[in-house]
Amino acid sequence: MSEFTLDFQDTETAFADKSNAQLKEKYRLFKMLDSPFLNAIGSTAAKFALSIGLPVEGLIKATIFEQFCGGESIEECSLTVEALGRSGIGTILDYSVEGKTTDEDFDNTKDEIIRTIKRAKDDPNIPFAVFKVTGIAPLGTLERMSSKKKLDAKSQAKCERIQNRVNEICEYAYSLGQPVFIDAEDSWIQDAIDRMATEMMERYNREKPLIYNTLQMYRTDRLKHLKELRRQAQLDGYIYAVKLVRGAYMEKERERAAEKGYPSPIHVSKAATDADYDAALEYCLKHVEDMAFVAGTHNEASTQFLAAKMYERGISPDHPHVFFSQLYGMGDNLSYILAKNKYNVSKYVPYGPVADAVPYLIRRAEENSSAAGQVSRELELIARELKRRKLA
Ligand SMILES: Cc1cc2nc3c(=O)[nH]c(=O)nc-3n(C[C@H](O)[C@H](O)[C@H](O)COP(=O)(O)OP(=O)(O)OC[C@H]3O[C@@H](n4cnc5c(N)ncnc54)[C@H](O)[C@@H]3O)c2cc1C
Repeated sequence: MSEFTLDFQDTETAFADKSNAQLKEKYRLFKMLDSPFLNAIGSTAAKFALSIGLPVEGLIKATIFEQFCGGESIEECSLTVEALGRSGIGTILDYSVEGKTTDEDFDNTKDEIIRTIKRAKDDPNIPFAVFKVTGIAPLGTLERMSSKKKLDAKSQAKCERIQNRVNEICEYAYSLGQPVFIDAEDSWIQDAIDRMATEMMERYNREKPLIYNTLQMYRTDRLKHLKELRRQAQLDGYIYAVKLVRGAYMEKERERAAEKGYPSPIHVSKAATDADYDAALEYCLKHVEDMAFVAGTHNEASTQFLAAKMYERGISPDHPHVFFSQLYGMGDNLSYILAKNKYNVSKYVPYGPVADAVPYLIRRAEENSSAAGQVSRELELIARELKRRKLA
């Protein structure tokens, strides 16, 4: 075992950016999220209130939106980008509009993603752009594309429109030399996303890693898939680039598998997911000279594990193929302490109209409400810092 450790309990560094008032507000909000009951009521009430047009946007904006999002537009995120940048943390502008259904909406979202890439190019504090394929494509078509059944003419035309949008984004990123992540989503649409992402890597990752696909290590098949894809990239002469996450849709995956009677694609236990996640980190690190990867996680043990393995292998913290990433409003102890120690670290900063960001916010709230979830860890850290500042 390596002696190497980073002190992720250093709350003074983790919250250096937060004023006393901001820290107290963060504590209040996380305390509310810590109650599964309040959380469930809050999520349902927010959905309901918005659906019937009640004026709750202001309330959402001042509370949960403020904690987890950068603003409603790229411009509104500027202060956040600068503040994170001052601490050595990059921003990934994440246009978090979900649930759209028309071609016009998909084209608008595609144009907005292109604007984030353009904005990134002008700013050294924005190392990556990101998009979700479901933001620019109808779910039904992605599901048909993933099912491997022959597409009828109408679906074929829709499929081509999706491929064109994905290509337009990646081609633009390539033209500016700006890296971009493609997020991972539900397993029943993921094959279509994976195929498009691989095609984009084949096309645009010849000289440097620009297009990153995402692998959810809660899936039992992903470790094997990672190894196959890297080997294939080697054979085909392009650089494999991947963001590793555990996966955000576990309940939905299990429920659908049970309902439709197929084996769940998700590991049976958290320990099995954790083991595959760390094995994937280790595999990527072993091949770091011919591939690039991002550890997208709030898990302290995995973060510590990767940093220690880098140390053992003599890989410098700022190696251009190794990145750490967290979500805005979460895992600040990891982000700020990694940055202080000169690792490449960035945060997703979601933005968009408040009402459109609600599904994202509800996912964060639900994720944070589980007993062993992030929130108890966050609360403990905030409480420690409040105490250190003699505020509690
Ligand atoms: C920068 C960044 C980018 C992200 N991008 C994506 C993305 O593109 N797609 C996506 O799906 N998610 C994405 N996520 C979310 C991510 O998948 C996780 O949901 C979230 O980060 C929590 O996992 P964790 O690694 O931080 O750690 P932890 O809090 O230690 O792990 C929680 C995770 O473990 C897994 N898990 C929990 N219980 C069990 C169980 N009983 N059995 C099996 N597995 C279990 C689940 O995946 C759960 O989310 C991203 C996260 C970050 C930080």
